[in-house]
Amino acid sequence: MAKYKRILLKLSGESLMGDQQYGIDQQRLGDYAEEIAAIVKSGVQVGIVIGGGNIFRGLSGAAKGFDRVKGDQMGMLATVINSLALNSALVGQGIKSKVLTAIRMEPVGEYYSKDKAVEALENGEVVIISGGTGNPYFTTDTASALRGIEIEAEVMLKGTRVDGIYTADPEKDKTATKFDKISFDEIYNRNLRIMDLTATTLCKENNLPIYVFNMDQKGNLQKVMGGEDLGTLVYC
Ligand code: UDP
Repeated sequence: MAKYKRILLKLSGESLMGDQQYGIDQQRLGDYAEEIAAIVKSGVQVGIVIGGGNIFRGLSGAAKGFDRVKGDQMGMLATVINSLALNSALVGQGIKSKVLTAIRMEPVGEYYSKDKAVEALENGEVVIISGGTGNPYFTTDTASALRGIEIEAEVMLKGTRVDGIYTADPEKDKTATKFDKISFDEIYNRNLRIMDLTATTLCKENNLPIYVFNMDQKGNLQKVMGGEDLGTLVYC
């Protein structure tokens, strides 16, 4: 029995680069699709939000002189590109999957609505919700909090390249220790930036727990769904 029946999986665009400097690494994409396919076959309903940082980030565009709103729109389109790639990889694994978009762009994907997303999930389809929130000045973490709440997911699984939340950045501070679980209040008190504050607050105020784990280690997604404690749970 899987630990959760309906999840919102947040994947970072950056992880999709694998060892490359830019774009989509086919191996990493294939690994993600395999992992997701395995949990879908076990009956889990999976909604996915994927970032776009492997292609474009609004803030880095602004730093180069782009208009911020235009830059953010480019970032949102980058998430659509990643979503289409993941969709193809999932279909290649024999999994039914559809891309919904926060901004109208049929026929690339159907325009997002909660009803459409939930209906597809109930039919056993993976739903990849792309285009962020559709608004500039937000992040895909906020989009995944929002969509997770809307589709009534039991948890947001935040796949990262680290294996959970630490007292300090483990890549910079060797004395940092990992939490098995931590409350939202403690996240604020310790000023831990696991996501931007908008995303964290949206989850807290709507009782959506977050599970942070290392998605780049093959097999971890299935382990999490099997109830193994390999990451950090953020609870209300
Ligand atoms: N973005 C946006 N609104 C949203 C979500 C994303 O404007 O609701 C833009 C923003 O420019 C961001 C880019 O899309 O830099 C890519 O998303 P994000 O940085 O969250 O991707 P990740 O870092 O997870 O790869």
